[in-house]
Amino acid sequence: MGRYIGPACKRCRRVGMKLFLKGDRCYMAKCPVEQGHGPPGPATRRRPRLKDYGIQLQEKQRLRNMYGMREGQFRLFFHRALRARGVTGEILLQALELRLDNIVYRMGLAPSRRAARQYVRHGHVRVDGIKVDIPSYKVKPGEVIQARDAKRSRDYAKDHLDAAESRGFPPWLTVDKADFKAVVDHVPTREEIAPVVDEQLIVELYSK
Ligand code: SF4
Repeated sequence: MGRYIGPACKRCRRVGMKLFLKGDRCYMAKCPVEQGHGPPGPATRRRPRLKDYGIQLQEKQRLRNMYGMREGQFRLFFHRALRARGVTGEILLQALELRLDNIVYRMGLAPSRRAARQYVRHGHVRVDGIKVDIPSYKVKPGEVIQARDAKRSRDYAKDHLDAAESRGFPPWLTVDKADFKAVVDHVPTREEIAPVVDEQLIVELYSK
């Protein structure tokens, strides 16, 4: 199945939660979720009451859509987390956070994960000085992520860096705004990861 390219806000309204898919607009009062808009469809249709499976599925959809991943790739991340030693839900979140496109978004080179994915794909990013254009590349602690030293790459990032700084950079990233670069200090702990989802529900869903 192809990637969803329809209206981003519909996805947030469907799962009843802000997924931050549109950049600056997501932090404004005109965000439809902030305004209390319900799920897409006829205004008279009520949100169905979910049972166990529905709640688990919704939680998975929230996390998957937040990181802009397809089902197959998300499932792959889950199975890798399942095989690793440690708490599966936490390892899954850490793997998602350490994706290159997510870090480009978190450090403020792009306004959203979707834009960050394109920024990476178009070759604007260097990891330890080497061009990496794979959005799912797993960044390791100590690696330096930097915007390409080119006017086009840095002009685009400039405004978004300021916005990201005003929202606050994650504690596990050291960002050097002047040089358009960031270093991953350590693998983020669960407390340092922003998604407000219950990852245990996702583990239960995939363990059926
Ligand atoms: Fe739209 Fe962003 Fe609000 Fe989601 S969080 S509904 S993408 S403005």
